[in-house]
Amino acid sequence: MQLQLALHSSPRFSTWLWFNDWKTLIDAGDGASQQLGYKIRKIDTVLLTHSHRDHIGGLLQVINQRGEAGPFTLAHPTQGRSWRDMESFSLRFNPGTSRNAVWRALEEGDWIDTGVAGRLIKSFRTRHFLDDDPNRAPRSLGYHLIWRKNKVKPEYAALSQSELDAVRRELGRQALENPQHIGKTEKELEQVQIEAGRAAITAPVDEKWITIGGDGCPLSPQEVAGTQILLHEATFLLPDDYDAEAAGEDVGHMHSTVSDALRVAAEAGVQDVILYHISTRYSDQEIRESIATTAKDAAFKGRVYAAMPRRIYFDFAREKPVWEAPL
Ligand SMILES: [Zn+2]
Ligand SMILES: [Zn+2]
Repeated sequence: MQLQLALHSSPRFSTWLWFNDWKTLIDAGDGASQQLGYKIRKIDTVLLTHSHRDHIGGLLQVINQRGEAGPFTLAHPTQGRSWRDMESFSLRFNPGTSRNAVWRALEEGDWIDTGVAGRLIKSFRTRHFLDDDPNRAPRSLGYHLIWRKNKVKPEYAALSQSELDAVRRELGRQALENPQHIGKTEKELEQVQIEAGRAAITAPVDEKWITIGGDGCPLSPQEVAGTQILLHEATFLLPDDYDAEAAGEDVGHMHSTVSDALRVAAEAGVQDVILYHISTRYSDQEIRESIATTAKDAAFKGRVYAAMPRRIYFDFAREKPVWEAPL
């Protein structure tokens, strides 16, 4: 898998994910700044999925460590009382560094510019809190990491390279007739022609690269469709474990199982799935076996990776799939 990802995810304790080349940290559980060390200063964007303690327990340290290096974006779902409380506390606790956190409340469908060229992030609504009112602003969000690429417009797609070059030159030449270019040197005009020509034959196209859901119910396959890599929570290996937990005292929010996550991926047509936020009650071997059995039973047509609880991954791209569809 082509990605630069460091992560840790142990439900109840800590979850954080660091996308190095996007300069983006998603969630800030306990230990995020300790494990990332001085890499924390490279963060430009911190995105939070919701305000549970295992996702924000390390936020104060992230703010302080990152804040030493200047301003950065700290975005979170609009709803949730903790945000304002944390912002005001951080400003009292360590105003010098905390002032550099630019807090931003997100609705669903909001765009975040990472500051890295061609890399954008878009939020979408998730269902994690039982009492979340769909008519109000979101309490929990997932995020799409999106590449914005300039691609040849569909009307020119059938042309050969030399035909395309001719069209590009002609459209670029037409742009030179604009009076705003009068007085420019020959070299400047040449540059205008090249850039205008290129702009005229291309249009920006957005490609979903990674979709990360945060905690909650199975994501909507429509929301996920088109993404290359799905990071889906799978707190429970089996539906019975989920039912037992929900019947106990820990009610109020919802989670997914392995089969939920794989069903979403299959319906959305996603090849690569990374399961994370897997309960620490399971051993690595139980997790591997359960995922393999579930994927096999569902005849899942892709690769399934798992971020084991308790472990810290500094380079997840090196991981082998736990299950891969037979050829
Ligand atoms: Zn959690
Ligand atoms: Zn949660």
